[in-house]
Amino acid sequence: MIKKYIPFVGEESINELFILAEKVKNLRILHVNSTYEGGGVAEILSRLVPLMKELEIKTDWKVIKGDEKFFYFTKKLHNLLHLSLSIPIESEEVVHYLKTIYENLNRINTENYDIIFVHDPQPIGLVIKKQPGQKWIWRCHIDTSTPNPQAWDFLKNFINAYDACIFHMPEFVYQGIKIPTYIVPPSIDPLHPKNVELSKEEIRNILIKFGVNPEKPIITQVSRFDRLKDPFGVISAYKLVKKKYDCQLVLVGSFASDDPEGENVYKELLNLTADEKDIFILGLPPDSHKEINAFQRGSTVVVQKSLKEGFGLVVSEAMWKEKPVVGSNVGGIKRQIVHGVTGYLVNSVEGTAMRIKQLLANREFITIMGTYAKERVRHRFLIIRHLRDYLLLIHKIFNQSYKK
Ligand code: UDP
Repeated sequence: MIKKYIPFVGEESINELFILAEKVKNLRILHVNSTYEGGGVAEILSRLVPLMKELEIKTDWKVIKGDEKFFYFTKKLHNLLHLSLSIPIESEEVVHYLKTIYENLNRINTENYDIIFVHDPQPIGLVIKKQPGQKWIWRCHIDTSTPNPQAWDFLKNFINAYDACIFHMPEFVYQGIKIPTYIVPPSIDPLHPKNVELSKEEIRNILIKFGVNPEKPIITQVSRFDRLKDPFGVISAYKLVKKKYDCQLVLVGSFASDDPEGENVYKELLNLTADEKDIFILGLPPDSHKEINAFQRGSTVVVQKSLKEGFGLVVSEAMWKEKPVVGSNVGGIKRQIVHGVTGYLVNSVEGTAMRIKQLLANREFITIMGTYAKERVRHRFLIIRHLRDYLLLIHKIFNQSYKK
């Protein structure tokens, strides 16, 4: 399977993986996050873990469980870390958080592993069970550059119990971290059903199935139904574009089990657009990979108007499909889009509309930018690079501890 990546990254990169894997093969690795489906972390782990196994590295993936109260608190924490809102964290929420973490520690046996990767804030507290000789790595997937101080203090106590942490970008590393910090951007998998080539016929059929007209320009945003993805801002921008161009807007979304806000946002969007025949709000099951692929490929312009964004895998997914992306000038989106070359970075509803119009008026830009976009993803954001970064990191962390 791993050799199937040679056409995308070259033989040398794959050989390098085998060499690195040999060095860390005896270590047992565990990844823990809070959902098997929905959102970028699950997306990455569902591809990365099987590849690590294929390299004969003993790797498992486990998911913490929690009730509604637990996930309301962790979503609040997520929002506070992203937006620095001044909403206090209640001591009762912390007590419930810790109780849930202890319950999970009874369920998830972390003792059998040498390295434990803990993804994002939800499971961060598991580190209280750290055993001598183990290495715990906190892998942060969100933009923590301007957090609410109370939320950051809550996290920091746990972070400093880890052996290392990983962020997507240097700007996300906030103050007070006393452990080694590494930068590893995420990635997409070109062999994922979501990213493989589709025929024109397949794309067309899927668009028609959902009532979308393949002959008329399509503007798309693919995202969980989350206010931070600003679907309402996308609709406002689309309405400005629509005054000049007859086009359609597709908002494709799904629900993640660790995000309790999704249903409400989805219903609000449906209400808001009930009378708009060219706006499609599509809530799809989390395994709708071929549909997502078709919507990204069938789009004229892809938008990602997030207010804050850890990385935004959807940006790379669209770029890989040779789409120029009009994306907010925030978080990981800034790292993916090269402004004016692979797409546009924007700061407002008006700016988003202006850039979409510019692309609709100059279709040759779409083709040229799309070509550059794909190359950028090939060089920086494919899973083989991501895997290599992780293996190097594991090797480094363990080698250091042998020397001590
Ligand atoms: N996604 C999906 N179905 C949807 C919406 C999103 O499969 O209806 C996928 C999307 O293709 C991407 C991931 O979920 O692979 C979202 O990752 P991203 O980093 O963009 O955002 P996150 O949800 O992690 O904030």
